[in-house]
Amino acid sequence: MSEHTHNINPEEWKFEFALNTLAYASEKVMDPNYFIEEVYHDQDGDWQLFHNGGDAGTPPKLICMGCICEGDPSILKLYDMPKGWFAYRDRVDQAWTRSPYERQDDDSD
Ligand SMILES: [Zn+2]
Repeated sequence: MSEHTHNINPEEWKFEFALNTLAYASEKVMDPNYFIEEVYHDQDGDWQLFHNGGDAGTPPKLICMGCICEGDPSILKLYDMPKGWFAYRDRVDQAWTRSPYERQDDDSD
């Protein structure tokens, strides 16, 4: 990804990683006709974001978190969400609801 800047107030950026950190995003996360419906913080530290309406099996794209938060500043509020948790909402104007989620893999033992 090429160098670029973000129009985000540094005081609002409370994530523990840099603005240009890449996250896994479903196809239409950056599409203004959709909104981000689910945000996962994986056990391995990765972040995954999914737009509403499903992604029809298309592979995720790598998009920088700074760009995602620029498009939807509500993501900034999820900075303290622990690994193994996800946040969801039914409408774009709803507050995020957080919940732990079950691991998909079974190598924990
Ligand atoms: Zn960016």
